[in-house]
Amino acid sequence: MFPSNFEYFAPTTLDEALGLLAEHGEEAKVLAGGQSLIPLMKLRFAAPAVVIDINRVAGLDHLEESKRGRGFLRIGALVRNATLERSDLLADRYPTMATAAPLISDPIVRNQGTLVGSLCHADPQGDFGSVMLALDGEVVVKSTAGERRIPIKRFLDGPFTSTIRPDELAVEARVPSPEGRFSGTYLKLERKVGDFATVGVAVFVSTERGKVTRAGIGLTGVGATNIKATEAEAALVGNRLTDATIDEASRLAAAAADPRTDVRGSADYKRDVVRVYVARGLQELSGARAA
Ligand SMILES: Cc1cc2nc3c(=O)[nH]c(=O)nc-3n(C[C@H](O)[C@H](O)[C@H](O)COP(=O)(O)OP(=O)(O)OC[C@H]3O[C@@H](n4cnc5c(N)ncnc54)[C@H](O)[C@@H]3O)c2cc1C
Repeated sequence: MFPSNFEYFAPTTLDEALGLLAEHGEEAKVLAGGQSLIPLMKLRFAAPAVVIDINRVAGLDHLEESKRGRGFLRIGALVRNATLERSDLLADRYPTMATAAPLISDPIVRNQGTLVGSLCHADPQGDFGSVMLALDGEVVVKSTAGERRIPIKRFLDGPFTSTIRPDELAVEARVPSPEGRFSGTYLKLERKVGDFATVGVAVFVSTERGKVTRAGIGLTGVGATNIKATEAEAALVGNRLTDATIDEASRLAAAAADPRTDVRGSADYKRDVVRVYVARGLQELSGARAA
């Protein structure tokens, strides 16, 4: 399968890339890892007249913690999933993201695909959308008109739809640095290794003197977008992770899910997997550093 004809640009600076987006935005697509865009173009589900390949743009491959304000993790638009998978910084400080990274597809996809590209693609079965929701992340986008910081909950707008404008480039994802004792994980049910999630669950908690001060729960594959289970999160804050609070939070997370029956399973089955996986994730955290 061949894509339809398109004009190809490979800018080397951010200004150049933003200039191209200002000129061609409506008819253009940004190419990052290409793991979603290229298949879509080959299948002719997407036929952009212009492709702006950002892979040569300098300054988009940073993965670092900023100490500004309360501190945050910065993931540049060209940071590959494989880099996230091998990062000691993530393993130490951002365990929800560290456990999700190796569960994305296979090594070939992870060598090319980017977290920021995955967020822009806004597939409700994308794993990083849920991780970002659990961690209260945001996406930094730039255009020739300036910069916007969009909380992930507002960034993910519907199936394969985000609130980024056609003239904007997502330059980085940010996640607030954890405080106190914290722990997190990502659980994914897949039909076989490398498949998209039947259900995925991202969980994060931080605690002080045994009580939860911050909780994050994101759900994959059970709605039109990744879902932030806010009521389940609220049920944990101020409480200890006990069997009772974990049961209540997992029940509320299942209630927040809005799954559809498809080849991966029935809606009822997926909702129950959410309940079981949220409980399993929180049980795991209760025995880890957050305890
Ligand atoms: C076989 C296979 C299995 C997969 N399995 C999984 C899985 O299990 N879980 C999962 O989460 N994902 C999975 N993916 C998707 C993979 O993670 C993709 O890499 C990801 O969704 C898109 O990232 P990318 O960098 O390749 O983006 P691209 O394919 O380059 O772009 C995707 C979309 O985002 C836009 N875009 C990309 N970067 C930017 C930017 N910086 N600014 C503005 N717009 C941008 C593009 O224009 C395009 O519309 C799979 C992909 C394949 C091919």
